[in-house]
Amino acid sequence: MDAALQTQILETVDKLARERVLPRAAEIDRSDAFPRDLYKAAGDLGLFGIWIPEEFGGTGPDFATPLLISERLARASASFALIYSNCGDACTPIVHSAPRHLKERYLPGIAAGTLIPCFSLSEPGAGSDAGAITTSARRVGDEYVITGRKSWCTNGSVGDVFVVFAKTDREAGNKGVSAFLVPRNTPGFTIGRDEDLLGLRGSPTTQLLFDEARIPADHRLGEEGEGFKIAMVCLDEARLNCAAMALGVAQAALEVAVSYAKERVQFGKPIIQHQGLQFLLADSTARLAAARSLWEQAMTLVETRRDRRASTFAAMAKLVATEAAMQITTDAVQALGGSGLSRDFPVERMMRDVKAFQIFDGTSQIQKMLIGRYLEKVGLPFAET
Ligand SMILES: Cc1cc2nc3c(=O)[nH]c(=O)nc-3n(C[C@H](O)[C@H](O)[C@H](O)COP(=O)(O)OP(=O)(O)OC[C@H]3O[C@@H](n4cnc5c(N)ncnc54)[C@H](O)[C@@H]3O)c2cc1C
Repeated sequence: MDAALQTQILETVDKLARERVLPRAAEIDRSDAFPRDLYKAAGDLGLFGIWIPEEFGGTGPDFATPLLISERLARASASFALIYSNCGDACTPIVHSAPRHLKERYLPGIAAGTLIPCFSLSEPGAGSDAGAITTSARRVGDEYVITGRKSWCTNGSVGDVFVVFAKTDREAGNKGVSAFLVPRNTPGFTIGRDEDLLGLRGSPTTQLLFDEARIPADHRLGEEGEGFKIAMVCLDEARLNCAAMALGVAQAALEVAVSYAKERVQFGKPIIQHQGLQFLLADSTARLAAARSLWEQAMTLVETRRDRRASTFAAMAKLVATEAAMQITTDAVQALGGSGLSRDFPVERMMRDVKAFQIFDGTSQIQKMLIGRYLEKVGLPFAET
């Protein structure tokens, strides 16, 4: 995307974040209610179209801009940043792999923000080990019959259309997974309960139940057996997006901590003048700058190369940014003392919110596993090999 247009979009996002999202952030957390008005506001500004080609009503697809948008929204509300960016995770498989009639039917509504798409891979027995899913899709004439149970589906209870991964061949491992587009009103498909989570409240995380749910065979994305590949296509972006949100929250928490430390007086001077506390804030600042640099480097690599080395950088960026954000938000609570624990200040919410970033889109341990595998099979990821 042209730099001037990107700057203009980010200014619009900053205004939305400042005027609409930030004033609502605490209330969204407290009520755990999906902010439909803010979703509509983002849709009216065209922010969902950024993942979708022009011929289907979008303005994209663009690689970096949605990541920069997520980072900025997360400074105001991590929950809303996830609600927004989950659209990218869910519509990328449709953009890449859906038959044309499905793109024509669903993408314009998704671009406008009037249809909410969801991505459903995880199951009660298959989280990190996504290939272990047991939900099945059986071909019967011109239909697929889907049976199983999904968990942790972001935006599930408010979703309109679901990218669902199911086994079409139980014996074929990852190659037996296929992807489907399941509209909300499909007979046999029931939206289950929302989880009551520690953080990211207001962004629903939902169970989905499929009891012989029947969808037309032309609602399959890609070929039979391509589902796992389709799920993995957007994983680098998803990890960079998770890092983006972590960096946004960490920056907001650090800003609160620094301004509080300049105001709060103990032992006769502002606490920022006590070296012990100054060092804590200095560590946070250095940690944030380092994580941000790695994230920017990983974005450039993923956008330009899309190879295994780039994926390793995406994993490192996710690992480092989310671990840094956990530490920075925890230290921000520390810098505020007792006030840090109070809901009168935002840092306790930020600390609760960033915990989830160490878990979804591959836990920290899974990122380390991926980095470790690269070391084993290829070597250090720093030079051309
Ligand atoms: C807020 C939120 C939103 C989510 N949204 C979605 C969504 O929209 N769609 C979707 O499909 N899923 C979603 N998920 C699910 C998410 O992807 C999984 O929670 C994640 O992959 C981890 O799986 P699990 O929770 O089953 O943990 P498990 O896989 O059971 O892991 C438990 C622990 O074991 C560790 N572990 C597991 N395997 C290994 C290993 N090989 N080596 C070392 N340690 C290991 C993990 O790191 C973790 O610490 C969401 C989750 C959350 C919390």
